[in-house]
Amino acid sequence: AKKAVLGPLVGAVDQGTSSTRFLVFNSKTAELLSHHQVEIKQEFPREGWVEQDPKEILMSVYECIEKTCEKLEQLNIDISNIKAIGVSNQRETTVVWDKITGEPLYNAVVWLDLRTQSTVDNLSKRIPGNNFLKSKTGLPLSTYFSAVKVRWLLDNVKEVQRAVEEDRALFGTIDSWLIWCLTGGTNGGVHCTDVTNASRTMLFNIHSLEWDKELCEFFEIPMKILPNVRSSSEIYGLMKAGALEGVPISGCLGDQSAALVGQMCFRDGQAKNTYGTGCFLLCNTGRKCVFSEHGLLTTVAYKLGRDKPVYYALEGSVAIAGAVIRWLRDNLGIINSSDEIEKLAKEVGTSYGCYFVPAFSGLYAPYWEPSARGIICGLTQFTNKCHIAFAALEAVCFQTREILDAMNRDCGIPLSHLQVDGGMTNNKILMQLQADILYIPVVKPSMPETTALGAAMAAGAAEGVGVWSLEPEDLSAVTVERFEPQINAEESEIRFSTWKKAVMKSMGWVT
Ligand code: ADP
Repeated sequence: AKKAVLGPLVGAVDQGTSSTRFLVFNSKTAELLSHHQVEIKQEFPREGWVEQDPKEILMSVYECIEKTCEKLEQLNIDISNIKAIGVSNQRETTVVWDKITGEPLYNAVVWLDLRTQSTVDNLSKRIPGNNFLKSKTGLPLSTYFSAVKVRWLLDNVKEVQRAVEEDRALFGTIDSWLIWCLTGGTNGGVHCTDVTNASRTMLFNIHSLEWDKELCEFFEIPMKILPNVRSSSEIYGLMKAGALEGVPISGCLGDQSAALVGQMCFRDGQAKNTYGTGCFLLCNTGRKCVFSEHGLLTTVAYKLGRDKPVYYALEGSVAIAGAVIRWLRDNLGIINSSDEIEKLAKEVGTSYGCYFVPAFSGLYAPYWEPSARGIICGLTQFTNKCHIAFAALEAVCFQTREILDAMNRDCGIPLSHLQVDGGMTNNKILMQLQADILYIPVVKPSMPETTALGAAMAAGAAEGVGVWSLEPEDLSAVTVERFEPQINAEESEIRFSTWKKAVMKSMGWVT
């Protein structure tokens, strides 16, 4: 059959905490042409530990690329039209591997992992000055960021220690691991990361946009294992194998930055909230670093080209959002698949006074409270699994409300609506609840894969690729679904204040 004629296409790897996807977009229309998705295993070898297998992650990327290419061929679309590939990834998750053998020296330590709490406690005793970490990195000392995970690996894993001594060790977040492997691995792989991913390691100075010698000394991490830091949009290297061999990898953004770009939040004050494993609200603050007084992080939003300016964001991070749904599925078995939660919640339409604080990994923003653990409270004889399902969804909305309140206080100008995306936004009850609890409209693009879109845009716009234009006027045609608040503000406030009471009860469980 004759192949369909299309403009240039751009592919995007979206390597998330729950799954890996590869998606192919038309660079002229931003239309999603085909994609493939594979769920990723999470291992919990001890309480509080969360690991993934870097090799499984890599194989899932290859599988998604191959399957997507097969689907395109079936649609009569010539894969030689794919001119660039972008990578977006779960952030902070830490891999150390051997550059001689190409083998990971330990499992990936996932961002949610809590094993480093004692490392954090020890480090916190010797911070040289109150503002040392926050002023350089925009981040609080927490188990969340990569530096403490690397410190733990150096302290506890002999293979890692030995490889560092013998100059064989490379460190990277998932973007670095994937790009190194995809561009050839032991056979000339490129060891790099972008400014957005680097800004989540706690080793990166967000003002000078370089690895910071003092930070590396504080965490005692040798600078020789760190990847080269590049912009989010430039050619890093070429695909070394597979159906897309020879195609440049030319976009790289941490998933939350990618979603910000994919939602076209290019202007000061524009924000998006992504509901995946966790929940992350990012507000573009333009070219200036804004430091929060209310528990938000300052982070690099993007830098779309070597000679382009850097943009910053304020971020509210919630550790557990979709993960609570996965927990109800895998640990309690009250649903068989994530989307069944909607049916359960719909049956009751209320939590009947039940509140669920899913502080499985402590609480992130705005509390940063490692002592918190999950609680379900307000139970009566009447409570059933439907109420708990509803309370789980409501928890995601309440957590977002806390972040939004903090954001409004820090920015001064309240958001008029909330742009949303991520796997959980397929859930219409959740979206309606969110509008009710925030008391502003919730706006969801009809093409929900904004993370991948952002990575594809960065890749397509790179110098030397030049198939995607980032001019704002090209981007106005986005169709959306809107959820308007339906309950009154007073009712919403009462529920929210009871939630806050529940949050207080979740704190102080571990000492
Ligand atoms: P990530 O990028 O973190 O891998 P995704 O954006 O792919 O996450 O979203 C997956 C998460 O969304 C999972 O934790 C899953 O439990 C949750 N999820 C998926 N569909 C639904 C749904 N219909 N209702 C509620 N949660 C959902």
